[in-house]
Amino acid sequence: MALNYDQAVAKYEPTLGLEVHVELNTHSKMFCSCSTEFGAEPNTQTCPVCLGLPGALPVVNGKAIESSILIGLALNCSIAPFSRFARKNYFYPDMPKNFQTSQYDEPICVNGYLDVEIETDEGAKQFRVEIERVHMEEDTGKSLHVGGATGRIHGADYSLLDYNRAGIPLVEIVTKIVGGTGKYAPQVARAYVTELRDILRSLQVSDVKMEQGSMRCDVNLSLAPIGSGALGTRSETKNVNSLRSVERAVVGEVVRQANRLETGERIVQETRHFLEESGQTRPGRSKEQAEDYRYFPEPDLVPVVPNSEWIEVLRATLPEKPSIRRKRLQDEWNVSDKEMASLVNAGLLNVVEATISLGADPARARSWWLGEISRLANEKEVDPISLISASQVAEVIQLIEAGELTDKLARQVVEGVIAGGGTPVQVIAQRGLKVVSDDSALMIAIEAAIAAQPDTADRVRGGNIPAAGALIGAVMKATGGQADAAKVRELLLKHLGKGE
Ligand code: ZN
Ligand code: MN
Repeated sequence: MALNYDQAVAKYEPTLGLEVHVELNTHSKMFCSCSTEFGAEPNTQTCPVCLGLPGALPVVNGKAIESSILIGLALNCSIAPFSRFARKNYFYPDMPKNFQTSQYDEPICVNGYLDVEIETDEGAKQFRVEIERVHMEEDTGKSLHVGGATGRIHGADYSLLDYNRAGIPLVEIVTKIVGGTGKYAPQVARAYVTELRDILRSLQVSDVKMEQGSMRCDVNLSLAPIGSGALGTRSETKNVNSLRSVERAVVGEVVRQANRLETGERIVQETRHFLEESGQTRPGRSKEQAEDYRYFPEPDLVPVVPNSEWIEVLRATLPEKPSIRRKRLQDEWNVSDKEMASLVNAGLLNVVEATISLGADPARARSWWLGEISRLANEKEVDPISLISASQVAEVIQLIEAGELTDKLARQVVEGVIAGGGTPVQVIAQRGLKVVSDDSALMIAIEAAIAAQPDTADRVRGGNIPAAGALIGAVMKATGGQADAAKVRELLLKHLGKGE
């Protein structure tokens, strides 16, 4: 009988290793001055260097070195006083040089760690994930296989290559083996990638969008019988592209490997692909050993020798740690763990903080960004922060608090701003969206409503307060929804002799 996850981890101890590739957000490529702008026509952002033409000479991008050092410092690494690039030789059409310029035995940052917190049966618990190395390399181009049913190379009629991405700076962050997690291996993996993403975002070195591939995670996993002290053969699941998938990929591999071991089958050291639909993995190529790559030092690039003063300057510019900042903001705003997590996961923490710092009430700022604005952004399939600015949202919230907008009117204002109608004040003026707060204007509408429904008015006078709803509704309708309902109710009841 096949083992499920709980049965698998009751018998086997998982060991993890995580490799994360991050595209840096430099304006130019790693070794040439070509633009890194996303979305250009294929092969328009290339030159002899990133196309690997004979005789072209690379020059290292200084900003990419700076970003790599910042990442190393934020991950508590030592920065190597001397590091070198190496050629990683392999043949694949998306790599025009037939080698990737990477780092091998002399990476720029080594020996760091990242502490992550997960929920366990015994409450919150901290795990330390040790970092082996952070190294610099370059991205490959992109292949498009045309004509097949699956979009894969098998069955395709031909393939197209776009080298715009070839040479974009990448940083690879590799953990040491992570043991001792027991059944919590999936949560530890996810918490690590989440925390790493938040740190990279706070450093502003990458846009860290997993769905778009600017951050991708390879999950190494092996199993050994509990208590054996042995290390099993590992598989490597490549390019897992969401936080949830990281967690699911670990679960999937634990179950697959445990069931193989149960039936006496061997675990093959290989790369595997994660299947989003099933949460399982399928085999890819069997994994090359390091020697297959014939690494050797890159002769065309000088070693990287950052001076210690520069490193200390960079260390001094490190932003507040995301975990510390989250705790601080959570206290200041008085929100629950869950509410905080939804803001962080939606990538809205910064913009909500900005909105609040401009004077908006924390609860309202949170609900506008997570609610209406996120809903509109979903419809348009764009990032909420591209739709409207923090100051415009803060302005709308202040108008609500001042009683000049109802929630309903405010939604129309926000929609108007997003539709390109200008600032909130301009949208209000153009569309006449101000609350009718003028008592005399409201009284005219109230008297008209009473005149139209005299029986209802009598019932209210007789003490049937809920009956007032029909009259309030009539007033709201007459004012085009621009009156404050609470105010209408107060004036109406007072007029009918039922006010406090
Ligand atoms: Zn180039
Ligand atoms: Mn790599």
